[in-house]
Amino acid sequence: MKDNHLKIQNTLTRKKELFEPINPPFVGMYVCGPTVYGEPHLGHARPAIVFDVVFRYLKYLGYKVRYVRNITDVGHLENDADEGEDKIAKKARLEQLEPMEVAQYYSDMYHAAMDALNVQHPSIEARASGHILEQMEVVQKILDAGYAYISNGSVYFDVVKYDKNYHYGVLSGRKLEDMLSTTRELDGQEEKHNTADFALWKKAAPEHIMRWHSPWSDGFPGWHLECTAMSTKYLGSRFDIHGGGMDLMFPHHESEICQNRIANNTDTVKYWMHNNMITIDGKKMGKSLGNFITLNEFFTGSHAMLKAAYSPMTIRFFILQAHYSSTIDFSNEALQAAEKGMNKLFAAYALIPKLQASDSSDENVNAVFTACREAMDDDFNTPIVLAHLFDAARLVNSVNDKQLRLTQEDIRMLKQIFDTFLFDILGMRYESASVSLGMEDKLMELVIALRTQAKANKDYATADAIRDMLGKIGILLKDTKEGVKWEVK
Ligand code: ZN
Repeated sequence: MKDNHLKIQNTLTRKKELFEPINPPFVGMYVCGPTVYGEPHLGHARPAIVFDVVFRYLKYLGYKVRYVRNITDVGHLENDADEGEDKIAKKARLEQLEPMEVAQYYSDMYHAAMDALNVQHPSIEARASGHILEQMEVVQKILDAGYAYISNGSVYFDVVKYDKNYHYGVLSGRKLEDMLSTTRELDGQEEKHNTADFALWKKAAPEHIMRWHSPWSDGFPGWHLECTAMSTKYLGSRFDIHGGGMDLMFPHHESEICQNRIANNTDTVKYWMHNNMITIDGKKMGKSLGNFITLNEFFTGSHAMLKAAYSPMTIRFFILQAHYSSTIDFSNEALQAAEKGMNKLFAAYALIPKLQASDSSDENVNAVFTACREAMDDDFNTPIVLAHLFDAARLVNSVNDKQLRLTQEDIRMLKQIFDTFLFDILGMRYESASVSLGMEDKLMELVIALRTQAKANKDYATADAIRDMLGKIGILLKDTKEGVKWEVK
């Protein structure tokens, strides 16, 4: 195991803490996955990529990571509340499909998009509908402990009682008394004793298709319950990291904390991590705003707002250019800039085997490797890692231009920096569409030969036109002692 200097910003304590696993070398990590009722979009890409990098880096450090990510295929009602139709059942009704057909269809689509984004598969992908018994056991435990009540066949968590003995709102900072005073009064006809209470089990209305027998009613589990049941089943009553998008902090994760505390009789999660949200052209992404773009639309460019298709690696690179705790804004300009930067790194990497070694070095390449490690150790600071990789690319280009000398060992180290950080840890991979370097080199040789020939024929207009046109697509020609060289600007 490598020396551990990893620090994680814990949402729970609001501090950067040295990462000390509960039971090293094992690390348990749980991340809330998608509710599978629609096509995967940018909002799915960010947490998947962020926690993929966490997963990859922990493994790089030598930990044995069990990464559990769930698929919500039951119990997530509209508006994330305890009322309304189940999101998957609604889609099934509209499309005249069996709910599990809907879940399968969109899970398959999600998996295909994640594979395209080079997101590694979690160790366990757990489906809510496959863990109904485990969820019922949690409901019973909470009932037995006296922190839940049955009302008209449904079971609710008693948040007011919880708050008396434990602190409610530790994660989101919400205060129960504010929630009670700002929400509408209950009119006595409702099942809940207090508006802040949340459903552990819902009695199914007659038309509700997804239902299971239980001691309380024919019904289905509340949305928050699956993550408590499945994380406990696979990672134990105490585990290391729980991740998810910031939008899940309340009510989803706050409710998980309550359920965990009572069902497991301990504070289950040691480090809570939340990725920030994505905006498109400065606005929140939403179906009603017309800026709702699916991942497939990005990959194919088939959306009115997109000026071009953006490859999965461009999307991944763009997401990694921001720290996970910052918001990111998608725009055509920003994506094009990301694509350019990514290709610059790829082009430098491809040059490494062609570099000529010297007897001594003008630069300390090991320092770049160390800087990348330190950036990852500082709460997975991927934008800083990328900045160091651009430094490494500059070194490659300088050696190539004979402006800098490096030994064979340092050149080998440069390659290792790219292999370790760009490919293994940040999870980038070459894409044939954006970079087929062999072919690109050959094409550029051809273009440069044509220009040299034009010059030899004193056809300077053509020679200049070739240089200008290449400039417009971001390729710079340089006259050097060894002949004409080219680089991506
Ligand atoms: Zn969850």
